[in-house]
Amino acid sequence: SIRVASAPQNCRWVRVNTLKTTLDNVLSTLLANFTPVSSIPELIKQSQDPENKNAHKIYHLDPHIPNLIALPPTYKTSLLTSHPLYASGAIILQDKASCLPAHLLYPPPNATIIDATAAPGNKTTHLAAITEGKATIFAYERDKFRSNILRSMVSRAGGDKCIDVRNLDFLSTKPWEGADEELEPVTHILLDPSCSGSGIVSRVEVDTPAPTTNSKDDRPVKRQKKGPAPKEPTPPPEEQEETTPEDRLLPLSTFQLHSLLHSMSFPNVQKITYSTCSVHALENEQVVLKALQSPIAIERGWRILRREEQGSLKDWTERGWLKEFKESGWSEERQKETAEGVIRCTPGSGG
Ligand code: SAM
Repeated sequence: SIRVASAPQNCRWVRVNTLKTTLDNVLSTLLANFTPVSSIPELIKQSQDPENKNAHKIYHLDPHIPNLIALPPTYKTSLLTSHPLYASGAIILQDKASCLPAHLLYPPPNATIIDATAAPGNKTTHLAAITEGKATIFAYERDKFRSNILRSMVSRAGGDKCIDVRNLDFLSTKPWEGADEELEPVTHILLDPSCSGSGIVSRVEVDTPAPTTNSKDDRPVKRQKKGPAPKEPTPPPEEQEETTPEDRLLPLSTFQLHSLLHSMSFPNVQKITYSTCSVHALENEQVVLKALQSPIAIERGWRILRREEQGSLKDWTERGWLKEFKESGWSEERQKETAEGVIRCTPGSGG
């Protein structure tokens, strides 16, 4: 079985949905009487102080992602989900790692965008907020049940006008053959394909593993009732590698690469974000390497976005594993640049 990383120190994250409200409004209603703190370690430290009766009434404004708020790890999710701002779609419970792809893609308003593998829709609705509801976003989801969940999330988040939900296989789109004409102008693609889910953090409430698939495709949107908080420390990636046989990861890695190459083939696409919830190099650095070495990438001049081009994330310290690019045949400089272009988020670090 795939081991899910445990990270009891992970914060609760709240993304303010600017299609529906403003950060100021959330701070003055949901978080009225809360005190801002300057960092995640400070948030965790203060929230664990037994002397402090208001230890849960603190928050930290994320410095990397606009409109993202961290609350203490122990903050009760039910206090958020029972709030009218949640019911109205004005706040969305979305982890910081899950906010990185849309933020890095950062399409301009009026862009034509594809979210290739979209349900339940956290990143789709984030894209809609970033583009102020002015973009055209095609959201593909091949699973019918999950596409219905996507539809309801899009509607709750106020994205109906700009998001076109399609219960279709992204890999069946072929704008270069004259089919799917409306996809021709697509300039930005967010690709967050099915993966092993080996990097998904468990908290007090965890996502229930899908019982019948070998991927986290249908990571349920429903959450389990309260269970015990995980006690073990986060196992290092090497240890996880042992518990996840390659033959299980290979089909996923092949699908991920295929999806990335498919994205690169769109006639006018300029920028793609590729993300997974996996800790395995086979699903991450190795997919990036194979994609960049593919004929389509070479022909079209695809390259990785260099660290210094990554805006507010350029100072992010955790980067791709250089060793995965050693056999590439590339110059040392290119290996380093590519590894540095990849962003990793380890459960437990930085909230
Ligand atoms: N980006 C989503 C979010 O942040 O809410 C999570 C996406 S989840 C990791 C991957 C999704 O892709 C699953 O819902 C799965 O059913 C869907 N999927 C897998 N292969 C697909 C394909 N070929 N075309 C469209 N959707 C696909």
